Amino acid sequence: MTNSEPLLDRFGRVHTNLRISVTDRCNIRCFYCMPEENVQFKPRSEILSFEEIVRFTACAARLGVNKLRITGGEPLVRSNLSELIRQLVAINGIEDVALTTNGLLLEDQLQELKSAGLHRLNISLDTLTEETFQRISRRTGIEKVISAIKSAIAYDFNQIRLNAIAIRGLTENEIVPLGEFAREHKLELRFIEFMPLDADDQWEHEQVLSGSEIRSQLESAFCTLEPAHRKDPSQPAIDYNFSDGRGSIGFINPVTQPFCHDCNRLRITAEGKIRNCLFSIEEWDARELLRSDADDMQIQQLIRDCVAHKKAGHGIDSTEFVKPDRAMYQIGG
Ligand code: SAM
Ligand code: SF4
Repeated sequence: MTNSEPLLDRFGRVHTNLRISVTDRCNIRCFYCMPEENVQFKPRSEILSFEEIVRFTACAARLGVNKLRITGGEPLVRSNLSELIRQLVAINGIEDVALTTNGLLLEDQLQELKSAGLHRLNISLDTLTEETFQRISRRTGIEKVISAIKSAIAYDFNQIRLNAIAIRGLTENEIVPLGEFAREHKLELRFIEFMPLDADDQWEHEQVLSGSEIRSQLESAFCTLEPAHRKDPSQPAIDYNFSDGRGSIGFINPVTQPFCHDCNRLRITAEGKIRNCLFSIEEWDARELLRSDADDMQIQQLIRDCVAHKKAGHGIDSTEFVKPDRAMYQIGG
């Protein structure tokens, strides 16, 4: 196998997209992701250094990875994150670098992130009210998030997208206000179905609020939603444009409409485990190689091995489904 061959799995999926978790720490405690108390964070010595992340990413880029997403935990709690982004943007072959953040620490870092070359921002916004924000995150601060979103608009990123979780019993009253906010500020909004990756093991199928239910509410409140042109066939979201020309809405429906057949994503956790799926129960240890005298070819072979073992789908609805030991904050969403 030569270096130039694409990262192809057994089902013909070519992997070009890498999600890098830079920390398992977070400044809030969303109930759908983290436990409320006694969170066991990895010791700092186990977390990959910037140098290790950059070397790993350069190896992946040589195998055709061209798109990165920086995530966590909350990536902006990692000090000097913009320096890492500057180095990642400079890697040969990397064309697009995005950051997913809860927005709380964003406003003060916008200038340095932009200067570092960050292309796109995804900001999580589940509600516009402080009361619901606190119910979700067990912390305060929605006004900081909203202020950061408004400030980010001036920075001319290639894209700013808002992500909202879709949970029955929580999200119904948020749909229309979030839709209005996104339309007013000309931002894309995506609803993501609640997945069984919460730390407290409370997920139940009945709590999944499907994209089609949200769509009906938005159409009743605003106007019809027309299917948008699918720019990237491997994108997880199904996007719609409002027929009055004011904005677009997307739905990521991993539970009710799995998109595994087109998945081109790989993940590396903050402590250097490569995963071929959010729901993987197997991991490949890149840190062990990065901290030994292994050469880049060995790291590349490990990435290939991980891709080669990818399953056809996550199988959430199958009786054989096994929930991963890790919660979302330990994987990187
Ligand atoms: N801390 C950052 C944030 O919240 O944007 C980045 C990491 S967070 C794990 C990434 C995304 O995963 C967030 O948009 C969050 O809403 C989503 N997420 C977390 N747990 C989830 C779950 N159980 N099901 C679906 N999405 C989830
Ligand atoms: Fe933190 Fe993001 Fe998880 Fe919320 S979803 S607890 S902000 S990592």
